[in-house]
Amino acid sequence: MFGFKKHCPICGMDADESSIKRFRKHFCSNTCVEKYLEKKAKEKHDKPRGGCC
Ligand SMILES: [Zn+2]
Repeated sequence: MFGFKKHCPICGMDADESSIKRFRKHFCSNTCVEKYLEKKAKEKHDKPRGGCC
């Protein structure tokens, strides 16, 4: 039994059994997987390495 619903972390759409499982998350489509990767890459890029404070 799978009692809880999963949602695509990018667009928030319901992600059912046909969803794409990546990084322990469920994406509704390849487009969202790509967006997720882009977002992650950006976050990495935005964060200063080694922090100053
Ligand atoms: Zn999505």
